[in-house]
Amino acid sequence: MQNFDRKKKLFVISGSSGVGKGTVIEGFLKRNPNFSLSISYTTRAKREGEVDGVNYFFVSKEEFLMGVKNDEFLEWAEFSGNYYGTKKEFVQKSLAKNKNLILEIDTQGALQVKEKMSESVLIFIAPPSLQDLEFRLRNRKTETEEAIAKRLDFVKMEIQNSQRFDYRIVNDKVEYAIEELERIIKTEEAYER
Ligand code: 5GP
Repeated sequence: MQNFDRKKKLFVISGSSGVGKGTVIEGFLKRNPNFSLSISYTTRAKREGEVDGVNYFFVSKEEFLMGVKNDEFLEWAEFSGNYYGTKKEFVQKSLAKNKNLILEIDTQGALQVKEKMSESVLIFIAPPSLQDLEFRLRNRKTETEEAIAKRLDFVKMEIQNSQRFDYRIVNDKVEYAIEELERIIKTEEAYER
């Protein structure tokens, strides 16, 4: 039986690029429209087709660092010279409205969330194997050897961090990965942590 008084849990999903994390989350959201993705703040440049306030809140470095100074972030991290972070207010407002929220952030950020909100559920989407990921990255033919090596090092760090996650989904078939994500979320919603 559903308990309507139960506090909403925060689901945090991480997984390095190249593992198809975006496709899995997109598939889940299509089938579960009562869930929404948290909108992060970033200092990186807007890519073509991205909309401010939809994909990210695009802010200047000064604005971002002011938020850090004022302790406005639940978590934040830096990649390749850009900052990314989740504002506390955004999450608190969503949970207060009893909304189901998913955070799609990196593993460093996910572990910060877990420290502050121990009831949050961390899910890692892993590549079937490092060799498979390397093959996929090479196959894209968009990056130099050096960039690929750097990315693989980052993935290794993420896999190391993921040992502290609650769940791991191996994405060898997208359809199965989406089903597994659904199963995990439904089960977690039914129990208190
Ligand atoms: P992209 O620049 O491709 O949109 O995102 C790069 C990385 O930043 C992805 O791994 C994504 O999960 C991560 N990311 C996006 N938003 C946040 C955030 O608010 N906090 C953290 N820690 N990572 C984020």
